[in-house]
Amino acid sequence: MNRSQKAKPEHAPMDQFQCENDQLMVNGIPLRQLKHIAGQTPFYAYDRSVIANKVKLLRQKMPPSLKLHYAMKANPMPELVNYLITQVDGIDIASGNELRTALNCGIRGSQISFAGPGKQQTELRMAIASQTTINVESFNELTQVQQLSNEIGIQAKVAIRVNPDFELKSSGMKMGGGSQQFGIDSEQVPKALKLISSYGLCYQGLHIFTGSQNLNVESIMTAHRGIFQLATQLQQSANSKITSLNIGGGLGIPYFPGEKPLELESIGEQLAELIQEFTNTHGSAEIAMELGRFLVGDSGIYVSEIIDIKESRGTKFAIVNGGLHHHLSASGNFGQIIRKNYPVAIGNKMQQTKQETIQVVGPLCTPLDILADKYKLPKVEIGDLVVVYQSGAYGYTASPRDFLSHPQPIEMLV
Ligand SMILES: *Cc1c(COP(=O)(O)O)cnc(C)c1O
Repeated sequence: MNRSQKAKPEHAPMDQFQCENDQLMVNGIPLRQLKHIAGQTPFYAYDRSVIANKVKLLRQKMPPSLKLHYAMKANPMPELVNYLITQVDGIDIASGNELRTALNCGIRGSQISFAGPGKQQTELRMAIASQTTINVESFNELTQVQQLSNEIGIQAKVAIRVNPDFELKSSGMKMGGGSQQFGIDSEQVPKALKLISSYGLCYQGLHIFTGSQNLNVESIMTAHRGIFQLATQLQQSANSKITSLNIGGGLGIPYFPGEKPLELESIGEQLAELIQEFTNTHGSAEIAMELGRFLVGDSGIYVSEIIDIKESRGTKFAIVNGGLHHHLSASGNFGQIIRKNYPVAIGNKMQQTKQETIQVVGPLCTPLDILADKYKLPKVEIGDLVVVYQSGAYGYTASPRDFLSHPQPIEMLV
């Protein structure tokens, strides 16, 4: 081998899971056995112990005063939400149905915040009546909250979602800075704050969310400094104390070759200082970080079964009974510009040598239905179980499961 040749980047090791006797282990259960418990392939499985370890890691590295919220849209499976509320301090929801799930899990409105543009009247009513904090995203919405609040006779709890005048660099998905459908532009926030007090609404604080899926420590730290600075500046225009500051999330997980898990130390150390400074000036405001994929993304696998193997002009194809319709993001069609592979393994051949480079594709009549492109795997056979890692967030509910009318996958919390 040519030594000057650059080593091809590899996926980060998926060592949140163990292997035994060639089988991938999901919370102590070998995959071969789990398949029978599922009753079918394809299925999603989420491992409680991986979620618990992730929360433990955050609690270790982040300042103790930082509240952790779960952003439910990442994975709204009710059993999983029910498990997460034993681990985190609050839930962020993005629709009336998510609010219902949260309330059904026994979470109080005082621990829930509701963000998202275009909230509907019924959703706002549900939020007001359950005393959920509404992160207001426009002036029309603010007026509507006041009207509905009067109509119901319950004072609404509101925070302002701020569209900052800076953006989160190296973020997978930018959701702040420049023109946005999200939040109220920072320069208009003083006006919104005045309206909140003249409307007699219950002011909770500010919500500043800059973006998602960030693996760059420096840019996350820069965003945090910007968020605290902006919050301090905006709070000067408020007539009442700030009780909660939601600093967004944005912590990413490694999906693609070359990506590494985030080092949390320096993020946590800086946050401790920023929180100290902020609370010195603003009293005992609660500071919360909201996380979706960082909490649950790496706990999940998507498992499908090889049902055909063929060769076409020198390329070997393994065809599985699941694909894009069940897992849009792993197929590369959920916001990726250039398709890259998620980490994939043959879950019943974990300790076998990877000796062939193949295509793993689904059953849909579209060339977009790819789960693994030119991927090195052990020699495959019909009946083998293809595991797609990093599937605990934006998988099942973020996929067009009715496309082509194939059977649905099931979900399991293990
Ligand atoms: C989607 C979303 C999140 C969660 O983002 P992740 O990348 O899953 O952590 C957090 N806050 C808001 C407002 C969101 O819209």
